[in-house]
Amino acid sequence: MEDNTLIGDRFGRRFPYLRLSVTDVCNFSCSYCLPDGYQKAHGDEFMSVLEIRRLVTAFAELGTWKIRLTGGEPTVRPDFIKLAQTVSSIPGIRRMAFTTNGYKLPERAQSYFDSGLRAINVSIDSLDPRKFHEITGHDRLGEVVEGVNAALNVGFENVKINTVLLKGVNDDELDGFLAFVENRPVSLRFIELMQTGDNLTYFRQHHVPSTVIRNKFAERGWVLQERADGAGPAVEYAHPSYAGRIGLIAPYAKDFCSTCNRLRVSARGSLHLCLFGNGGHDLRPLLQDDVQIDELKDKVLSLMQFKRSSHFLHSGDAGVRQHLASIGG
Ligand code: SAM
Ligand code: SF4
Repeated sequence: MEDNTLIGDRFGRRFPYLRLSVTDVCNFSCSYCLPDGYQKAHGDEFMSVLEIRRLVTAFAELGTWKIRLTGGEPTVRPDFIKLAQTVSSIPGIRRMAFTTNGYKLPERAQSYFDSGLRAINVSIDSLDPRKFHEITGHDRLGEVVEGVNAALNVGFENVKINTVLLKGVNDDELDGFLAFVENRPVSLRFIELMQTGDNLTYFRQHHVPSTVIRNKFAERGWVLQERADGAGPAVEYAHPSYAGRIGLIAPYAKDFCSTCNRLRVSARGSLHLCLFGNGGHDLRPLLQDDVQIDELKDKVLSLMQFKRSSHFLHSGDAGVRQHLASIGG
């Protein structure tokens, strides 16, 4: 897809893709993310649908065409459908995606699709019901898998599975995950566990370097594919005997940041130039009236000069992010 975005940085990268967190709240308690469940922090003053409409309008006028709704768990918002409808009807927004833990997906897939969402990422860290329960705190693997099938049936164009690679937990499940995509046209992406402020001990115990799994793909005949326009951070592999694809999101890999094409806004309206950057830039004061949209656009463009070339995860600097539920993965 043609990229006419005006949003660019000092390193020649363009940013047509916005990941928008719509809540920090989550109903799961994944062991690497919110092991004790969501803890209310400073009041749940998340952006209203009206504020989100103004925000996305400004980004769309600057050339953003892809939006991903994330969280926390975005679907816990009671007004999630209205929010998705509002964002998908903003001129210029051509691809609407969301990331979900799959809670109640079988019965909700149709209404998500009808709201204008066309791409869905569902998190499944294990295909063993017992392990799934242990990781997420919920005995809901069957429901989530049924939800993936429902998403395919109602017509989602792009169905992806996110699987965080965890040493000693799911790193023995590669062949099961490959079987999952054998007859399903979905893309299953292994995400390398990222260190956050909250999960250092867990990270040391369970981090698996992406090179380990990359070698296993090659041994099994999977072939690296070219990156599509506006694509997320995954590298994808295909195999002639499989309907689906597999992929790898490896934030610690050399050059991961050189293809960065996305910005993030938190549920409280602050712009984060990097998932692991230090602090955010508060846009909320400029979301209070339609007449502020031009000022908001100028602010976004001027903040781009602060985007750094790369994160500093290699040196153990996870920025201020306590966990990814506070900004969306
Ligand atoms: N609740 C939704 C879900 O789980 O899909 C959306 C938000 S969640 C923060 C987005 C993605 O980030 C999920 O696929 C999750 O597994 C992943 N994630 C969370 N913490 C992570 C970490 N420390 N390292 C790697 N991936 C992480
Ligand atoms: Fe919730 Fe998603 Fe974090 Fe799991 S990964 S605790 S579902 S926000």
